[in-house]
Amino acid sequence: MDLLKQRILKDGHVKPGNVLKVDSFLNHQIDVALMDAIGAEFKRLYGDAPITKILTIEASGIAVACMVAQHFNVPVVFAKKTQSINLDGESYTTKVESFTHRRTYDVILSKKFLNKEDHVLLIDDFLANGCALLGLVDIVKNAGATIEGAGIVIEKGFQEGGAKIRGQGIRVESLAIIKSMGDNVVEFQE
Ligand code: 5GP
Repeated sequence: MDLLKQRILKDGHVKPGNVLKVDSFLNHQIDVALMDAIGAEFKRLYGDAPITKILTIEASGIAVACMVAQHFNVPVVFAKKTQSINLDGESYTTKVESFTHRRTYDVILSKKFLNKEDHVLLIDDFLANGCALLGLVDIVKNAGATIEGAGIVIEKGFQEGGAKIRGQGIRVESLAIIKSMGDNVVEFQE
C-alpha cells in the first residue's frame, strides 16, 4: 500500500533493537484518515470472506481493528493482557511474549464474545516474531471458530513471524513488508 509506505518513509524512526517507531500516525497519535484507508484496503483483500468478527490484542491493534470493522460492519473483540488469569472457565486464555516490552503476558478473551460459529479476521499493527498473532490464533482455535486470515499493517519481513504463521496455512496480508532497516533507512519488499 503506497500511501502507507510513503508515510513510514516520511515519519518512521528506526530505534535500536529492530524497533520501528511510528508514533505520529499509528502507535500514539493516530491518523484516522490513513487508518480508514487501511480499513478499505483490508476490505478489498478480504471482502469475499464471510467474516463475522475482527479480533485483535490490546493496545495498539485496537484502533486499526475498529477502522477495519467499520468496513466489514462487524464487531471488534480485543484480547486483554492481564497480570493474573482468572481460571473460572469463562475465558479463553493464552500466553504472549511481547516483542517491544520483552516480557510475557497472560492474555484472556471472554467466551461470550467468540464461538464456533465465528469467522475471524485477525488484525494487528505489527508482525515481528509472531508471538502476538500466534496467541490470537490459539484463542480462535480454542473457541473452535474459523480463521479467515490475518491483516497486518507493518510486517518486519526479516523476522520470523510471517513464515511461522503462513507455515500453519493461515493467509496473511501485510500492507507494508519491511525487507531491512537500520540507521533510519527502511527498505520494503516488493
Ligand atoms: P510479535 O509478537 O510479532 O513479535 O510482535 C508484534 C507486537 O509487538 C505488535 O503487536 C506490536 O505492538 C509490537 N511490535 C513489534 N515490532 C514492533 C516495531 O518495530 N515497532 C512497534 N512500534 N511495535 C512493534
